[in-house]
Amino acid sequence: MKPQIIRTLAELRQIVKDWKAAGETVGVVPTMGALHQGHLSLVRAGKEACDRVIVTIFINPKQFNNPDDYKNYPRTEEEDARKLEALKADVVYVPDGAQMYPAGFASTVSVEGVTEGLCGAHRAGHFDGVATIVTKLFTQTQADKAFFGEKDYQQLLVVKRIATDLDLPIEVIGCPTIREEDGLAMSSRNLLLSDRARTWAPEMNLAMEELAEKLRAGGDWDALKAAAISRMERAGFTEVEYLDLRAADNLELLSAPDRPARLLAAAWLAGVRLIDNIAVG
Ligand code: AMP
Repeated sequence: MKPQIIRTLAELRQIVKDWKAAGETVGVVPTMGALHQGHLSLVRAGKEACDRVIVTIFINPKQFNNPDDYKNYPRTEEEDARKLEALKADVVYVPDGAQMYPAGFASTVSVEGVTEGLCGAHRAGHFDGVATIVTKLFTQTQADKAFFGEKDYQQLLVVKRIATDLDLPIEVIGCPTIREEDGLAMSSRNLLLSDRARTWAPEMNLAMEELAEKLRAGGDWDALKAAAISRMERAGFTEVEYLDLRAADNLELLSAPDRPARLLAAAWLAGVRLIDNIAVG
């Protein structure tokens, strides 16, 4: 059955009210569309854990710090709806800007701590935009569980923080990163890579995996980090914004994987900003 496409909050509220009256549990998968297997894995996790699944598609202007990035972000709504039909998503919620940010909108949700460093340091205002829209989507959908990818690891921790700090009655569930066969983390932005740049892109993950393996074997962080950055630059990456080893639970900076840790990176390839992270230790 085709998922119902809903564009207004009033309609969404009615449907969710009916589901809840029937005792059904509700999951939400927030996305910006241009759906790939990474997104679809979240929908599958939602279908397994909940009676109903809402997929939201909203390209949130408030989380883009670069107007060109917003303008060029892939928009593939019809194809997205077809993919969601195959997965039996119940509702696709596609609000427009006026629905999400009506005239007079003046509130921002802002998270400290886990937003410092990494993407928070390089994308001014990004996590305020994410935190605000996610809080709205949680309250709009009244979902019991929300599914987010570890692909955006810092974002996952930000969203968990919001749910805990604001006592939102929702469980935030992190799901593993889905990758292409060559290791490249799936991302809507991969569609923006030229064919040539696409062949270079997996070097980011390969360099990170090599670094992680050598770290586990007791290698020196500074030397291994420098070698990984050189490897990426040789492959065609023009700027490595960050390559950090951080504690998996609170993103504290580390120089050895002496507790559960993540290696996180952001880098530019042919005008496209790619991010990735993997577990270490
Ligand atoms: P986006 O549309 O990029 O905002 O992503 C929507 C959700 O999909 C977020 O929770 C992302 O972390 C998740 N996601 C994006 N790419 C992947 C991936 N390759 N594997 C798993 N989840 C992903």
